[in-house]
Amino acid sequence: MRLSGRVAVVTGAARGIGAAEAIRLAQEGANVAVVDLSAEAAEETVEAVEAAGAEALAVACDVSSAQQVEAAFEEIANRFGRIDILINNAGVLRDNLTFKMSEDDWDTVLDVHLKGSFLCSKAAQKYMVEQEYGKIVMTSSIVALGNRGQANYSSAKAGLQALARTLALELGRFNINVNAVAPGWIETEMTKEAAERAGMSMEDMKERFAKNIPLKRFGRVEDIANVVAFLVSDDASYISGE
Ligand code: NAD
Repeated sequence: MRLSGRVAVVTGAARGIGAAEAIRLAQEGANVAVVDLSAEAAEETVEAVEAAGAEALAVACDVSSAQQVEAAFEEIANRFGRIDILINNAGVLRDNLTFKMSEDDWDTVLDVHLKGSFLCSKAAQKYMVEQEYGKIVMTSSIVALGNRGQANYSSAKAGLQALARTLALELGRFNINVNAVAPGWIETEMTKEAAERAGMSMEDMKERFAKNIPLKRFGRVEDIANVVAFLVSDDASYISGE
């Protein structure tokens, strides 16, 4: 129960890594705002958070819209009275080789991952600065330094590492820690969709890529949730900008 009395916001928490993070933070004692494109989609995670003994709030919000983000954080702060933890996790893929990538594919990915994390961090830090307490985690990726067919995604993920470091520098004096996680291959709907687009089943993809992974397997959503739970706990109070 390292997060007893804390209020966490997890974006893109209806499924996948975000859902696992919301549940893990609840198991550590935090109340959780489950943010996703629709409140209905967030319902399953809300039930799991409540089953873990915490309070949950489903919040419909497109993180790439400044107006929606502002309203969402106001609603969350009104409901719980504070905002201690923000996990910027919402994401989408629009993979293509650069010569075939549309402007819309570029904008969508940059807007959801990078602009979305900027907008949510900006909204959350207002409360965190007042409290002189806060933890922010960005979700980067192992492909942040480039990957074939992912000019948009890799660029956004590299940007998130820069954003984490910049916010760590700006907000450290207010006792706010900002870090990024950069997962490798994790088995989720996003990965399944990527496999299907490449004409492979999830099982084929796992077999093909696991060979080059030191642990010889894909990650589970809980593997990321466990690291994030550590990073937002006071066990990690001297880790920032990493
Ligand atoms: P996922 O597709 O299963 O879940 C993403 C969630 O984000 C969905 O619930 C979706 O509705 C939500 N979302 C999308 N656009 C949104 C928006 N504009 N506003 C609010 N919510 C929105 O994906 P996942 O595999 O769980 O990935 C979660 C995060 O982890 C992403 O940022 C992804 O880039 C990152 N990541 C994933 C992997 C992997 O292998 N799965 C690896 C490295 C990083």
